[in-house]
Amino acid sequence: MTKCCTVTLPTEMRDVKIQNYINGEWAAPSSGAYLKNYNPATGMEIAPIPDSKSADIDYAVHAAKSAFPMWSNMPGVERAAILNCIADLIDQNCNILATLESQDQGKTVASAAAIDIPKCAAYFRQFANYITEGIRETESSMKLVCTTSSINKLVPSSQRATTQHVASGVAALITPWNFPLLMVCEKLAPCIAVGNTCVIKPTELTSVTSYLLTHILQAAAVPKGVVNIVFGSGVNAGEPLVKHRDVRLISFTGGSVTGSKVGALAGGLFKRVSLELGGKCPSLVFSDCDLEYAITTHVRGAYQNQGEVCLSASRQYVQRDIYERFLDGFRQQVRQEVHVGDPANPATFYGPVVTKQHMEKVTSYIRLAQEEGATVEFLVNPKDSVTNVSTGGRLTIEGLEGGYFIAPTLITNVSQGSRVMQEEIFGPVVCVLPFDTEEEAVQLANDTQYGLGASVWTEDPEKLERVMRQINAGSVWGNNWLAWDDCMPFGGMGCSGTSREHGPWSLEFYTETKALYTHTV
Ligand code: NAD
Repeated sequence: MTKCCTVTLPTEMRDVKIQNYINGEWAAPSSGAYLKNYNPATGMEIAPIPDSKSADIDYAVHAAKSAFPMWSNMPGVERAAILNCIADLIDQNCNILATLESQDQGKTVASAAAIDIPKCAAYFRQFANYITEGIRETESSMKLVCTTSSINKLVPSSQRATTQHVASGVAALITPWNFPLLMVCEKLAPCIAVGNTCVIKPTELTSVTSYLLTHILQAAAVPKGVVNIVFGSGVNAGEPLVKHRDVRLISFTGGSVTGSKVGALAGGLFKRVSLELGGKCPSLVFSDCDLEYAITTHVRGAYQNQGEVCLSASRQYVQRDIYERFLDGFRQQVRQEVHVGDPANPATFYGPVVTKQHMEKVTSYIRLAQEEGATVEFLVNPKDSVTNVSTGGRLTIEGLEGGYFIAPTLITNVSQGSRVMQEEIFGPVVCVLPFDTEEEAVQLANDTQYGLGASVWTEDPEKLERVMRQINAGSVWGNNWLAWDDCMPFGGMGCSGTSREHGPWSLEFYTETKALYTHTV
């Protein structure tokens, strides 16, 4: 049985030297090249990222393939002990992981410490429990008429059947930057719990905590080759991983355009693939809702994590008779309670967006709305140390002048067909429009290429149920937003994805299911 160790992680960003982790050892990329990386709050360079190529991927897949027979045959209870150990080490290092996640990604230390990092540990514990209990198999028995010794002779017979879930082999886990470590752990925990080995390709924009995880994996005595982490770009490292002949299964989370490429490649090579993609999530606020609670939740839904949440409540539709009251309350609450600034400050609600390029993308949508004649408001809190707000909404924060900050932006009087309403902006920008009837509300909510999440707000239970059931989205909340239950399926419809993961759905995705028929005479 595994004895859990302790681990010493670097506490300062300057001590972080990111290296690939292959076959239980750290290695420089074969190219010797590194990608630049920046702290989004300051714009200063931090730990460079290995620019790995196919040779590194080959090496990592080979290590994972070699480790597969040993790991998949290890009793579930022993794998579970290792997973629990990883969880303990994550919890013990929560503050370090949260601080460095913040410096790499821009999210507040407080939110990383309260949400991201504890959830990482929780995933390992959840799947350790599942695998200790074993995957529930389906059993069946039936009477048959079939041929036996003579090819033409039909005789009564019977048969027992059972399913068997088996590990698939080498998995590729490809992740985005908005919840860097969380997205890795959400996939890694179920993937290795059921006996797969893997190669992880974290996003090149926020790789620091995935690198720190390699130290935790080693301290938890994860056998060599079971988990390999190769850093680098989507084109140089991600694509060769997806195409690799020895990769049997791909779990991808990222944008819909990239997801479409990954899906096409993987499908053509008959690989099992899960695509968790973007969103443009509606919320429908009826006039008979608890308005105060709805406003508070919609402020959070719009701006939490800089609006860099695939489930952000980025399209808010409000019934016309409360529309102005909703907007007044929304503006007031944002101006009073949403502080934008230093992500290390516990009073900060949100920090900078992830990169300069992403800041330019978000502000280009704000400018587009202005050009189209929409009403664009920057709801800056007067207590924040903002020295300038650009026309595109970029904030200059005193002491953090090089940071990628964007004002809490409210867009109204925008047309439903505008790109601002139809495309994922993935920043602190929310569009609010009025509606009149229930039918119109449902039609507006479903007028999208996406289908990830939605919320509905009314005190009328029958209307709530009726409307929730008509919305085309993978997760729909009634009088709430982003209240997770990790035993429930998660995934999207349309351009938001093709699959369901979490809880038992992850156990299904990360295994192959066989049907075993036994003839019993
Ligand atoms: P992205 O699609 O640019 O990149 C995601 C990952 O794919 C990165 O690791 C990247 O290096 C890799 N990649 C890029 N090109 C590739 C290729 N050709 N082959 C293989 N891999 C490739 O996404 P992003 O900008 O990192 O993340 C933001 C997006 O992720 C948003 O659209 C957001 O909604 C979505 N997201 C979805 C969920 C969900 O669960 N549905 C969760 C978080 C984020």
